[in-house]
Amino acid sequence: MITGESDIIERYFAAHALTRGDIDVGIGDDGAVVRVPSDRRLVVATDTIISGVHFAADAAPADIGYRVLAVNLSDLAAMGAEPAWAVLALSLPAVEEQWLEEFARGFSGLARSAGVALIGGDLTRGELAATVTIHGFVPVDRHLSRGGAARGDVVYVTGTPGAAAAGLKLRQATDLVVPDVKSESLSEALLRPEPRIAAGRSLLSIASAAIDISDGLLIDVARLASASQVAVRIEPEALPLASAAAEIFGQSEAMRLALEGGDDYELCFTIAAAASSVLARASRTWDCRCTRIGQIEKGSGVYLGSDREAGPVRVFGHDHFAAGRSE
Ligand code: ADP
Ligand code: MG
Repeated sequence: MITGESDIIERYFAAHALTRGDIDVGIGDDGAVVRVPSDRRLVVATDTIISGVHFAADAAPADIGYRVLAVNLSDLAAMGAEPAWAVLALSLPAVEEQWLEEFARGFSGLARSAGVALIGGDLTRGELAATVTIHGFVPVDRHLSRGGAARGDVVYVTGTPGAAAAGLKLRQATDLVVPDVKSESLSEALLRPEPRIAAGRSLLSIASAAIDISDGLLIDVARLASASQVAVRIEPEALPLASAAAEIFGQSEAMRLALEGGDDYELCFTIAAAASSVLARASRTWDCRCTRIGQIEKGSGVYLGSDREAGPVRVFGHDHFAAGRSE
């Protein structure tokens, strides 16, 4: 039986947390005290996921626990950072032991594999929502950013963008009968996105700019273009589509999902053309694909295809506060 808030924290969070040598005070006091190495800078990012907005109300608790950490790790990956510590604020409508246990399993499984220690958090009663604030390190003189792309650079993406959006579409299309082997890879992409931490860290010395494409490739590439004050030209036929997405929904819908679909947590990055062979060597050690999808040009905005006369594309993607959205 759960006897109260500190019991929950002890049983489900403190007990599962990884320990690290750089924590002077962890879970249990009013704040955590941690040590940043003198030759590192601290990178901090935060992300909230809310039931019915970022995950289905009936999602498996282990997938929710995994997701709230994964989306944060993806932000660190896009900065080239090495993950270290996380703070978890959880809002729960009710306290259920089984739910907490599974949530903690999903969270701590990923935390352990990423080397992240949970150093504190908060627990409140309310609508189901989880927020993580993640902390990681980069060298003093180096981090990835959205702002470094230059004319002539080459654009790459990791993984198969559109796979998560195809997984979501598949769940919503209840009348579609699809063999498990095809649907599994898409569901996996949706429910268990793999933050590209190793790729991000090795890109520190290779990439000129990087962003994670959690809101959709086009909208996030447009952000990179804007921060770098350049134009991006994407070659649609070069996009590495998930084969299951193309088989189930057709090539052109798979391409639309790759360009506009969200929840991919892949990295889009740019390198100087001369760095191609260094990238080829480095990316061999990553556990994901890495595909050239376009180039950086003078100007602004995002262009699709090689037609030089065509104007920039209207960018679609996920934006909670886009004009016209009511939620
Ligand atoms: P306070 O009321 O002083 O803010 P809390 O009771 O919220 O303290 O938290 C007590 C301790 O438990 C703190 O160290 C806090 O960081 C930690 N904690 C609270 N909730 C969580 C959680 N979900 N995961 C990890 N640690 C938590
Ligand atoms: Mg508190």
